[in-house]
Amino acid sequence: MSDGSAPLPAVRTTCPYCGVGCGVSARAIPSRALTIAGDEQHPANTGRLCSKGTALGATVGLEGRLLEPMIGKHEVDWATAIRRVANGFSRVIAEHGPDAAAFYVSGQLLTEDYYAANKLMKGYIGSGNIDTNSRLCMASAVAAHKQAFGADLAPGCYEDLDLADLVVFSGHNAAWTHPVLFRRMEAARTRGQRHVVIDPRRTATAEGCDLHLALAPQSDVRLWNGLLADLLRRGAVDLAYVSAHVCGFDQVVLGLVEADHSIASVAADCDLDPADLEVFYRWFAETPRTVSLFSMGANQSAQGVAKGAAIINAHLATGRIGKPGACPFSITGQPNAMGGRETGGMANTLAAHMDFAPDERARVARFWGVDRVAEKPGLKAIEMFEAIHAGRIKAVWIMATNPAVSLPRADRVREALARCPLVVVSDCMAETDTLAYAHVKLPALSWGEKDGTVTNSERCISRQRPLMAPPGRARADWRIIADVAAAMGHGEAFDWRGPAQVFDEYARLTAYENTGRILNLGPLVGVTGDQYEALEPVQWPITAQGGTARLFTDGRFQTPDGRARMVPVEARGPAEPADGGFPFALNTGRVRDHWHTLTRTGLAPDLCRHAPEPFVEVHPQDADPLGVRDGALARVRTPYGEAVAIARVTDRQRRGSLFMPMHWTDAFAPQGRSNPLIGAHLDPVSGQPEFKHAPARLSAYRETWRGFYLSREPLKAPSGLELIWRRTPQDGCHLHEFAGRGDEDEREALLRAVLRGANGEILSLDDAATGAVRRAVMREGRLERALFIAVSGRLPPRDWLAARFLDAEISVQDRAVLLAGRPAIPIADVGPLVCACLKVGAKTIAAAIKAGAESVDAVAAATGAGGNCGSCRPEIARMVHGEAKDPGHAKRKAKHAA
Ligand code: SF4
Repeated sequence: MSDGSAPLPAVRTTCPYCGVGCGVSARAIPSRALTIAGDEQHPANTGRLCSKGTALGATVGLEGRLLEPMIGKHEVDWATAIRRVANGFSRVIAEHGPDAAAFYVSGQLLTEDYYAANKLMKGYIGSGNIDTNSRLCMASAVAAHKQAFGADLAPGCYEDLDLADLVVFSGHNAAWTHPVLFRRMEAARTRGQRHVVIDPRRTATAEGCDLHLALAPQSDVRLWNGLLADLLRRGAVDLAYVSAHVCGFDQVVLGLVEADHSIASVAADCDLDPADLEVFYRWFAETPRTVSLFSMGANQSAQGVAKGAAIINAHLATGRIGKPGACPFSITGQPNAMGGRETGGMANTLAAHMDFAPDERARVARFWGVDRVAEKPGLKAIEMFEAIHAGRIKAVWIMATNPAVSLPRADRVREALARCPLVVVSDCMAETDTLAYAHVKLPALSWGEKDGTVTNSERCISRQRPLMAPPGRARADWRIIADVAAAMGHGEAFDWRGPAQVFDEYARLTAYENTGRILNLGPLVGVTGDQYEALEPVQWPITAQGGTARLFTDGRFQTPDGRARMVPVEARGPAEPADGGFPFALNTGRVRDHWHTLTRTGLAPDLCRHAPEPFVEVHPQDADPLGVRDGALARVRTPYGEAVAIARVTDRQRRGSLFMPMHWTDAFAPQGRSNPLIGAHLDPVSGQPEFKHAPARLSAYRETWRGFYLSREPLKAPSGLELIWRRTPQDGCHLHEFAGRGDEDEREALLRAVLRGANGEILSLDDAATGAVRRAVMREGRLERALFIAVSGRLPPRDWLAARFLDAEISVQDRAVLLAGRPAIPIADVGPLVCACLKVGAKTIAAAIKAGAESVDAVAAATGAGGNCGSCRPEIARMVHGEAKDPGHAKRKAKHAA
């Protein structure tokens, strides 16, 4: 670790963002700076990183970190904080029983943290009430795996994505959410791999794919059932495989008889061109090496388990599982969602792929040395916060997650937290929307300080290694949990000296009395500290020969009879359909360069430039009659709440549908939060919420004035003003954009708020005729703050002014034009950032295309854009081929005909 003075050798660790689990080679240099490169030896990425991974070095500063334990507003020592948490939980448990306590944890936790939290709650508190935010991402896939394979087992591996001849992306925008895997598949396309995208939106993954099925929202099960019926019609089912290895085939086939599964009927219900659907069904039937990827678009649904089951059914019926280049493949969102699923971080799993059957409970109790463990599954995330709201849960410990932003009906979650007698939050950041409700705040380690393991989407366990010393008094999550457990009287059972010991205990549990559980880390039992330190990436199950790339190669599954289960699933529409009052279907999801609730990527200005503010996408023919203009503010209302965001009018959106990103929070854009708009409609089996559909309506916002404010420190929300505002970090300052519908008094109030405490010379320019107000605060030759307001007329671009915050001293020439907001000699405008790695803007790329660059590679050669991580290549492709229409459509139609 760095002592802050000398560079150290590169450390091999793992990226903390998505479930690809890329290896990172990081070198710490003084002042917590890092140089970051992809780890060429890691099997997930062989040296490649996406824009988020590349920018990791910009996210490890101490700005905004929680560094001391706090009770209320007061810093306390660890002993006091631990005592307060332990006594609080003990009192609640003694007075109201174990089920009055709950832990809500996160896919950001390491496996060791998860193991410790699960052991404390299910083994020693004796309740099942621990759930993870993976409930919001992956719970439906987990349930579908358990139904079909007998346990939560992801059959495939990344090599299958290289080997497949057909990849079906079902609700999976891999180009943005799992960019490094997408690059692997792009490489496979050069040897003929076909891509079919099933998604209501023309996402970056759909741009340039071979076939895009922009189906009606929530019609996926109908489409996949239709595929199975079509496979039967074509005689493309592998009856020999079914007969040897699968149960439930006849019931599924019988279930299909009840509906018309002709291509015409399915296409009508899914709102698809029958010719396109026929092409998909034909390609699937003809291509033994098919991988069907499914992710949030499938899982985040009140019928998420049915979608997963329908996809798996098609693969079991064709025997396309356990073979090179052939499998259904659920891709996880978070870096260690899999670790949580393995250790038992989900309320409906006990531990290490054992559930609540009496023999499994008895086995885990024996292993943990307790009389009894939790008797039944605990409350899943949404139920848990409802129970807090209702007062049934009286103490909750939230670790490394931000439910006040990320859960559906997020405003109700805030009410719940405000009512809860004891809210403990462990986090590395000092201010999140959730921490505002914490009675006790516990400073946790962040990426670059943590020491442990994570498991990626292909079951590969990798080490996250520390690069820097823990700052302040921050501690590892497993250590905090162990300390609280000890203070509750369970010291012996949590007496670990380091993460290697925690891992060893977890490995022993996977192997304990294991007569058939595929999750088995047996050969890692007894791992020493040095071996743990040197642990190379390895895919479980681990045998004496090493890791296992692919499961079910022998056609045996983890069910009592060894056969996989096909499960009949019924097509249903959205849980709450659009109607006359709320005629749109609102879909939510991620943007390319941001991660979850911005607590980390919001620290990296380069990651904030691609999508700097909340937006709502709408089709031009829907926007036009509503007077909603591209780039203007629009209001989105649902039965649960409302938000205001920048309209993006684009034919990438289906007619009748809207899309909003899910990242923004109170700290960045309080009115742009999407999750308060989502109803708590849950999958009945998995408990996963339907984030991908809420009935909504849209209108123009029509502000009367706009403005922006640049300052070295972020501005707190101006109290008493009903403004639409958002903050975007820049290099050297923060950009705040404002819009209001009030009069001069409102603008005056904002002016007073932003100039409060200003210490220095104030430059002013007012124009009563246009309502323009401009101020700049200078101190010791530097620009400290700048406010620009316009009632009519335009505001200047922000980039030049923002860059002045980097000047050690403002030049005489620049000072003279500061309130003009533009340099005396115009500089080239590079436009919105497209390539985050090399900071190449849209106008630079457009100029290269105009100059003759006719392909993405030619643009990369001319500008560098798209030549590094490749996350922006689909966007560049769109620019090369023209924005107006789906560029590949005609080409694909011709291909289908062929
Ligand atoms: S694809 Fe990007 S975000 Fe995901 S693990 Fe790799 S570098 Fe990190």
